[in-house]
Amino acid sequence: MFKGVPTLTQLNLRLLNAKNPRTFANGLVLLQQEQRNKATSAKTSWQQLEADANHSKVDVDVYSQEELVKRAKFGHTGKEVQQKIAAEKKLRTPPLLNLVFANRKLSFYDPASGPKQKERHDKLHREQEQRNAEDVLFDMFASEETGLISMGKFLAGLKTTGIRRNDPRVRELMDNLKRVHKLNNYETGSSAETQHLNRETFKAVVAPNIVLIAKAFRQQFVIPDFSSFVKDIEEIYGRCKDNTLGKLADYIPQLARYSPNMWGVSICTVDGQRYSIGDVEEPFTLQSCSKPLTYAIALEKLGPKVVHSYVGQEPSGRNFNELVLDQNKKPHNPMINAGAILTCSLMSALVKPDMTSAEIFDYTMSWFKRLTGGEYIGFNNAVFLSEREAADRNYALGFYMRENKCFPKRTNLKEVMDYYFQCCSMETNCEAMSVIAASLANGGICPTTEEKVFRPEVVRDVLSIMHSCGTYDYSGQFAFKVGLPAKSGVSGGMMLVIPNVMGIFAWSPPLDHLGNTVRGLQFCEELVNTFNFHRYDNLKHLSNKKDPRKHRYETKGLSIVNLLFSAASGDVTALRRHRLSGMDITLADYDGRTALHLAASEGHLECVKFLLEHCHVPHNPKDRWGNMPVDEAENFSHSHVVEFLKSWAEKAGNAPAECTPEAVISKTQADEEICSTSDLDHSIASSPIPSPEPEVRATSPVPSEAGSTASTVSVDKTKPGL
Ligand code: GLU
Repeated sequence: MFKGVPTLTQLNLRLLNAKNPRTFANGLVLLQQEQRNKATSAKTSWQQLEADANHSKVDVDVYSQEELVKRAKFGHTGKEVQQKIAAEKKLRTPPLLNLVFANRKLSFYDPASGPKQKERHDKLHREQEQRNAEDVLFDMFASEETGLISMGKFLAGLKTTGIRRNDPRVRELMDNLKRVHKLNNYETGSSAETQHLNRETFKAVVAPNIVLIAKAFRQQFVIPDFSSFVKDIEEIYGRCKDNTLGKLADYIPQLARYSPNMWGVSICTVDGQRYSIGDVEEPFTLQSCSKPLTYAIALEKLGPKVVHSYVGQEPSGRNFNELVLDQNKKPHNPMINAGAILTCSLMSALVKPDMTSAEIFDYTMSWFKRLTGGEYIGFNNAVFLSEREAADRNYALGFYMRENKCFPKRTNLKEVMDYYFQCCSMETNCEAMSVIAASLANGGICPTTEEKVFRPEVVRDVLSIMHSCGTYDYSGQFAFKVGLPAKSGVSGGMMLVIPNVMGIFAWSPPLDHLGNTVRGLQFCEELVNTFNFHRYDNLKHLSNKKDPRKHRYETKGLSIVNLLFSAASGDVTALRRHRLSGMDITLADYDGRTALHLAASEGHLECVKFLLEHCHVPHNPKDRWGNMPVDEAENFSHSHVVEFLKSWAEKAGNAPAECTPEAVISKTQADEEICSTSDLDHSIASSPIPSPEPEVRATSPVPSEAGSTASTVSVDKTKPGL
């Protein structure tokens, strides 16, 4: 299976693990000499060294000349470190180096300086680390045949959880892979990311980032099943792609030149899970999407009191660049042009009064850059120049505000206007903007670098204004339909924030008549039609929307615990609620115990009746010890329950002999979200709504509470059967 792909060979491992310092150190020197001199007697010389070393366990016969020459590269790498240590420790001869896994780090060590201690430490460490996360991961991905792990497969697996190879949080892993690749003397055509490693090397390589990696594979991120989520996103993306409505902005030539087919969506969750589709690396200018960001810097530096003594918080109800102020003679909010120009004046007059225009530009850019976690933020000078040329309305707004004394003292209007155009002309792409959106979703902490950029209070204020004022004159409808903070821009961007979950950036240049990207808007609306992300979506009760935040097994497990608890405590009302929520009442716990087992063993006749008569659960499921509910009732001497269950069983007559409920853990494949509609449809018996075909229920063998037999009960279709 490793055709053409070199692996961490037995040979190399021996070299790495050579017990005899002299063998190893001399071997390295020899290898280098071999390479230099192209000598042909490598094998003999090596044997000689081995013999000299006297007690080496290395079987040197396997070292062919060719292999020795190859090892020379490793020797070179090792030698550099050797020399460094020799210089530091002022040693005459280079120390033996080895590659070890210690303190959860891949490192070289110098065993000559204390092998016993090292051995003791290693043993202790190995014991501690037994069956740790690294081992489990290794076993998940390793080939049984070779006992090696394919890093290509491992990294692909990691990607399905949303973690990319270039994520700064796995940098050490990637660096270690490169180091091992180099040590391992890979030849042309191979890459560090596709090499195959043995257990110890793998553990050493992943150790520095194991917390994040383990979290990813344990599905502990905010979107546990990221690949299913991504499938839905792809579908929504595809539907929006077909939408060819809208017109390009044409007030400056640079915007009018974009292809109307451009369409990209990038997602970054608060755990740094990434997904992108379409034209996500195409650069475009921030335009109005810069407004919440400069506003955030002003809030961070000045606090909301100062900022909002200059600018309001109300939606203007007017066009984004309309020549209008609110009743206090302030711009309505920081998301419209007047408000953003005013925010820019706060930056130069109050936040950084001593800075030159150039310094304020750099200062702002560095904030934006931190929000992107170091991803692409640039500047488009052509757009800046065009913006400045085509800015009659913006200048008019500036003069109008100056006339109304809106600006702080010391404001240089010309510089402020330039600064505003510069902010609009900063260049970025969907990928980087999704990280900014995610930083806002994450309370001001960039998910990929974990740097705290803004205080959570600042972000809360920014999101509040985005929620009410972020999408021009569509803001009210957007808040109604999508129910999430967003900011759109005239270059076709739509920054959407799902607080505590993720940031999304959608970009497509064609705009609707209000200035919002057509595809971006459709994407947002379809997103909240699919997922319960709307601020006022109910997260608790049954909904036909998906909740990708839920861990489906965890959710199910919790629900079963609740269900069984209700049955054990005799709470018929709670059982009704479970039934109404569409839950499958026949589910069992790990021991195969159903709600009926619990109700019977606790002697709750009402619950037993409810479960059989209304929920139509099987009366004879066996738990892992082979006990049926009737056995439980007998064991705990609940004669009234025993009687009822026996009579039910008798009347069931031709019912199937036994039913063994599947334990929860064995249902993992089928158990989609507990609240999905498919659960409601999943069986007539478990549906809380009366069957449209009464005869299906005519098999119910026991008289109902009302005294009539189920076979004669007429079904009231207007009421749940509870
Ligand atoms: N540079 C544009 C302007 O000030 C920004 C417009 C926008 O994206 O809303 O007119």
